[in-house]
Amino acid sequence: MTLHRLKKSDTLPAVGRDVDTWCTKCKADLAHLILAMVGNTPAKVKCNTCGSEHKYRLSKAEAAKKPATRKKATTSRRLLPKKDAETMARERFERLVGNRDVATATAYSPRLAAEKGLMVAHTKFGNGVIDEIMGTKAVVVFEDGPRTLVVNR
Ligand SMILES: [Zn+2]
Repeated sequence: MTLHRLKKSDTLPAVGRDVDTWCTKCKADLAHLILAMVGNTPAKVKCNTCGSEHKYRLSKAEAAKKPATRKKATTSRRLLPKKDAETMARERFERLVGNRDVATATAYSPRLAAEKGLMVAHTKFGNGVIDEIMGTKAVVVFEDGPRTLVVNR
């Protein structure tokens, strides 16, 4: 037994349902009653307007539409779940620490001889890693984010 997966079951043609199709007599796209089906396609239809029975033909509108039914790229750019700033800051901190032991961090003071990658222990902000030095200032990446601290004084 084959199970047909019907995506648009509500709009799928079926015997007894109406379908908009080309009427050979009325010469227009009109509602037709489906009298017979072949597979998923109506085979015989009856015009609701003139009452004539004829083979199913695609409505002009649908026939025109057909060549353009290439699959729409479903790559509707889905935004990645935005990492919260907290997670990103912690990851940056962890990346800079690497597999070093933060217990070996140097106590921070403005007189600290700053070095990129040096782990510092700040009395207020906790452990951080120096990521950038700009003269007497250094960007220290703490677990909760980077801070610019005075160094090399
Ligand atoms: Zn007709």
